[in-house]
Amino acid sequence: MGEMGVVTRFAPSPTGMLHLGGARTALFNWLYARHHGGSFRLRLEDTDRKRSTPEAIAAITDGLSWLGLEWDGEIVRQSERRERHVAVARGLLAAGRAYRCYCTPEELEAMRADARAAGRTALYDGRWRERDPAEAPSGIDPVIRFRAPQEGETAIDDLVQGPVRIGNGALDDMVLLRADGTPTYMLSVVVDDHDMGITHAIRGDDHLTNAFRQTQLFLALSWQPPFYAHIPLIHGADGAKLSKRHGAVAIGAYDELGILPEAMRNALLRLGWSHGDDEIIDTDQAIAWFDLDAVGRGAARFDMEKLKSLNGHYIRASADSALLAAIEPRLAVAYPLAATDEGRRRIVTLLPEAKTRAKTLVELADRLAFLVYERPLAMAPKAARLLGEEGGEARARLARLAGALRPLAAWDEEALESAVRAFAEREGVGLGKIAQPLRAALTGAEASPGIFAVMAALGREETVARVNAVAIIAAERKAEAEG
Ligand code: GLU
Repeated sequence: MGEMGVVTRFAPSPTGMLHLGGARTALFNWLYARHHGGSFRLRLEDTDRKRSTPEAIAAITDGLSWLGLEWDGEIVRQSERRERHVAVARGLLAAGRAYRCYCTPEELEAMRADARAAGRTALYDGRWRERDPAEAPSGIDPVIRFRAPQEGETAIDDLVQGPVRIGNGALDDMVLLRADGTPTYMLSVVVDDHDMGITHAIRGDDHLTNAFRQTQLFLALSWQPPFYAHIPLIHGADGAKLSKRHGAVAIGAYDELGILPEAMRNALLRLGWSHGDDEIIDTDQAIAWFDLDAVGRGAARFDMEKLKSLNGHYIRASADSALLAAIEPRLAVAYPLAATDEGRRRIVTLLPEAKTRAKTLVELADRLAFLVYERPLAMAPKAARLLGEEGGEARARLARLAGALRPLAAWDEEALESAVRAFAEREGVGLGKIAQPLRAALTGAEASPGIFAVMAALGREETVARVNAVAIIAAERKAEAEG
């Protein structure tokens, strides 16, 4: 068979979020399909009606869309395929590969206790395997169980774990249809993987034991099982299994933190997959290189600091226009000016500098927010200290500076620098004595991008207005108070 036939799938149970582990599973399936020119399907295992709300489903589709992992064809909803699952179970029953089991809950509980005491993994003792249904007690709705092979073993050539096998005696006869007639996960997955023509099932290694049971079922149905690839679970940077304690586990939270989808893809890719010592691997490169032989068998470690440093890389590599589009709505929530032509002009002027320093879009937006503040600016305590008291010397000097700047012929960094230097000389003070209060007046903070770049970005009118807002008004108020 050529590579053309590869069909992978991501089969999440909608629980209200797309978590990191699920996102990584989706990415690996997507990359495998793209690498082999195959298709990547999305199947929602939504048989738990209570949890599978429209919001829970949207959390998955939105998360995949944000990550740029588009799926092929229609979304398959497992809940809509119930009749087919039931029909397959009935077929197995008719063929003698499944049977009705009339055990009471008490009997099952006792079997479970026995198995626990004996340290057996097989819980159900098979008591209805050969028993005549005529002996069925009344008032018990039977479940339908798979007549699993008891002799020999089931082997899988896992594409990540290598050859793995289990003695068939370790697996009991699993339920295919519950007493209320609903199909179980184990049955549904097998039927859906078969009907969808799935060739490769790449998923977390917590499903490895399921793979043995599913393989048995495939064989009983005379169907070809898919290739399985069970990838190690994700741990936090401290080596413990990933949990809320390690920070955000839902993919949506990374969008809010200002992580770019391409950085997230790169970070997820590196969770268990490697290509030499390469850390920065963009998506085209990943598609070209991805294969399952390079998936490690040890638990992968998720490291937020690594993600941020990758994100810094992708921010620097992004076009200014793309960054503007990403931060404008974030800024506009608090500062409507960001969504105007003037606001955008200011932001774009400082973006090339700011993007070399930000590790997230939130940091980038924070760095540029002062450009779109409304006057009068709120002053951080340190900035207020730089300005000194109202009517004080620093503010009076700023008022004179505004007067000197207003008539400048050119308003660019170079012209501004020589004008401010000349002004400092006339005033007989060092440049710092001017620049520090000026920075406070223009940004509300004691640190900012280069002061001349800030002035150039704000433009003449806004620069003079911000300076006057702290200088003249303060002086006037003092004059008023004295008068
Ligand atoms: N629905 C299962 C889960 O979310 C995955 C089933 C599978 O990949 O076979 O864990």
